[in-house]
Amino acid sequence: MKAWQIFFLIFLVAGSIYVINRSTPYKSNSGKTFGTYYNIIYQSDKDLHGNIKATLAKVDGSLSTFNKQSIISAINSNKDIVPDEMFVQVFTIAQDISEKTNGAFDITVAPLVNAWGFGFKQGLPTDSATIDTLRKYVGHTTVSLQNGKITKLHPQTMLDCSAIAKGYGCDAVARTLDEAGVTNYMVEIGGEIVTKGKNDKGKNWAVGINKPIDDATGQNNSLQEIIRISGKSMATSGNYRNFRYDGERKVSHTIDPKSGYPVEHSLLSATVIADDCATADALATAFMVMGLEEAKNYCMNNASIDAFFIYSDDNGNLLTAETEGFKKYKQQ
Ligand code: ADP
Ligand code: MG
Repeated sequence: MKAWQIFFLIFLVAGSIYVINRSTPYKSNSGKTFGTYYNIIYQSDKDLHGNIKATLAKVDGSLSTFNKQSIISAINSNKDIVPDEMFVQVFTIAQDISEKTNGAFDITVAPLVNAWGFGFKQGLPTDSATIDTLRKYVGHTTVSLQNGKITKLHPQTMLDCSAIAKGYGCDAVARTLDEAGVTNYMVEIGGEIVTKGKNDKGKNWAVGINKPIDDATGQNNSLQEIIRISGKSMATSGNYRNFRYDGERKVSHTIDPKSGYPVEHSLLSATVIADDCATADALATAFMVMGLEEAKNYCMNNASIDAFFIYSDDNGNLLTAETEGFKKYKQQ
């Protein structure tokens, strides 16, 4: 081929890519899943909502404790089953994060979550004797995957993937879009987000971090910060949406698996940026258990993790802290 022919070919290919990118519309699909809302924006000529819904149904059928037919429900009632691939993936990530966070994140926390009234079973009035009994059945080292099946040390042990399933669901939908050849998208389920490529303005995706204002209705969406990300996942865990009051005391839905009690400290919300959303989701919950100092230390020792924290001082003023790496997302 002559030089001008090569040049012409490059011009033609680059031109077509430009035209395709300019003319392919951005679509938006939304709906309800895992007891919350999803909103997915992607650039494609095809409407992929059918594929997206199929993926979400698969995640629900594998990991939802509210779905009595799910794999996780079968495991919780000690049925002898071989879990599907999604369950094995999430279980493996969850166990890995439990180890890395020294047990702050632990999917065997289910009996305690239920006892405190935030789970898939009705909570009983909690007293310290009940908590002590339940704590015996909690601990990530008491469950393992052996020959493709979940093995428990205690039949009373139950699993709760609520703190990782939304993030994993985002990853699963992102994979579905990847497989359909989509290169520009943002997947959001209940505030957990996966991004790739650019938005319809050709820029990185803008995402908001909520102010941690006590609001059990989920209607208050004042933003603390807006950042821009691409090719990264973001998840936030906070104690300002899902909580209840016992008299004067605010009972958070994040449970410290070691003490057996809901966490009570100055950290109000933790936002994590990671390469995948299951990890971001699980770490955000772990950070709420660990508290500000321990969470900051974790980020220092794990270069791929960035985080933004909102906490209150002794006078109730809101303060923020962030990792060095987080700053770049604010400047784009
Ligand atoms: P959000 O509801 O905002 O997504 P999280 O991702 O932090 O919040 O998930 C909170 C849920 O995770 C709780 O409702 C409970 O089911 C479960 N959970 C609570 N404490 C822990 C823990 N230490 N490790 C793992 N899961 C937890
Ligand atoms: Mg979480």
